[in-house]
Amino acid sequence: MPAPPVPSTVLSFEDARRVVEEQATTVHPAGTESADLLAAAGRVLAEPAFADRDIPPFPRSTRDGYAVRSEDLAQLPATLGVIGEIRAGEQLDRIPREIGPGQAAAITTGAPVPAGADAVVMIEYTTQREGRVEITKRVEPGQNVVPRGAEARQGSLLLDRGLRLNEAAIALAASVGKAKLEVYRRPRVAVLTTGDEIVDVNAAPGPTQIRNSNSYSLAVQIRQAGGEPVLLPIAPDEPQGLRRLIEDGLKSDLLLMTGGVSMGRYDLVEQVLSQMGAEFFFTGAKIQPGRPVVFGKCGAGTCGAGTCGAGTCGAGTPARGGALAPQGGTYFFGLPGNPVSTMVTFELFARPMLEALAGQSPRKLLFLHARLKSEIRTKTGLRRFLPAVLSGEFENSEVELVAWQGSGDVAATARANCYIVIPPDLERIAAGEWIAVMLR
Ligand code: AMP
Ligand code: MG
Repeated sequence: MPAPPVPSTVLSFEDARRVVEEQATTVHPAGTESADLLAAAGRVLAEPAFADRDIPPFPRSTRDGYAVRSEDLAQLPATLGVIGEIRAGEQLDRIPREIGPGQAAAITTGAPVPAGADAVVMIEYTTQREGRVEITKRVEPGQNVVPRGAEARQGSLLLDRGLRLNEAAIALAASVGKAKLEVYRRPRVAVLTTGDEIVDVNAAPGPTQIRNSNSYSLAVQIRQAGGEPVLLPIAPDEPQGLRRLIEDGLKSDLLLMTGGVSMGRYDLVEQVLSQMGAEFFFTGAKIQPGRPVVFGKCGAGTCGAGTCGAGTCGAGTPARGGALAPQGGTYFFGLPGNPVSTMVTFELFARPMLEALAGQSPRKLLFLHARLKSEIRTKTGLRRFLPAVLSGEFENSEVELVAWQGSGDVAATARANCYIVIPPDLERIAAGEWIAVMLR
């Protein structure tokens, strides 16, 4: 049966990204599981975490020195009577009940400041002898003291659902006694690479064959984005075989295909999906690399009757071990096969969908800016994301394109540490100008 042609919908980068972000609001993670605190690093939090007590739980000295009443230091040098020594972790009954006028207590960093005192003088400005301390510097009320509850009040929200847990979040969870955290299950992301010329990494390639590298770059990016990659066999440039593997891939929470989305006679991905009744949100974006990128959804609601294998794409059918298939099916991306195109289009489009399936709260793409080292000339019309090297320290960040042979050049991309982002309306960007950079 001839495939119905897929109408071409080529969007600007911004529109294509917005479409993905909109669709991403319709998906949910599969469920939650409990993880030990350290194992939760990099996962997405599925339960809010609250302060179990005030933070800090007592007025905390931030310096080694003397707890004082700041008004006692109006005249310098001031001499105060030392009524005790308060160490970090000191038992409550060993802390002076109150610092009276003309009194001070020696104190260490992290120790509770006693009642009556409203500031801590650093030890550097003091001399202690025979039960008295001479102070040569004034302090403001509150200086070198963090009041009880200033960082967080007992019961206040510290970490919310949807947060990807980094080291600061893990530290905060530890500080409120969370030895375990409830996190979202990782979505399963099927990876299907297509092409008659592609062989697996273990195979000896024939003279015109190419080893599969895209499945591996994608698997790494999927893991980094919080998903679990499921690598499918390499699909041939032949409709039946390709279709069987696509049906298999649609059982996961998300399907990423690479290759077979360009204009060639044997670029069959869109055709086959169209035959399966897929819905296409776009079939290209005005970017380089990665122009032919395809985004759509295929499932029971969209697949024509009898065209999909039983149980492969039922709406609301729990995917294997993963998220509920969104109503109407499973989202898919057809990423162009050139290896750099595959990497870039994953970052730009697949990542937000995967993060949403992983339960992460949506976030915008962030760019840094650096000075361009050497002039760039390009044609207008496409937003470009070109492999580049960012270098320089402090205020001297500079960035330069790596020399490359185009979007198939993995070797050049492996030398890069970022992408330079070139707006579609500029023909020339002079050396020394500020330019947007996307880190990788
Ligand atoms: P395509 O998008 O199928 O036209 O492929 C574009 C280019 O990317 C061709 O040169 C392919 O050989 C190459 N390519 C496609 N898939 C892969 C892959 N999995 N690993 C490495 N190169 C690939
Ligand atoms: Mg191909």
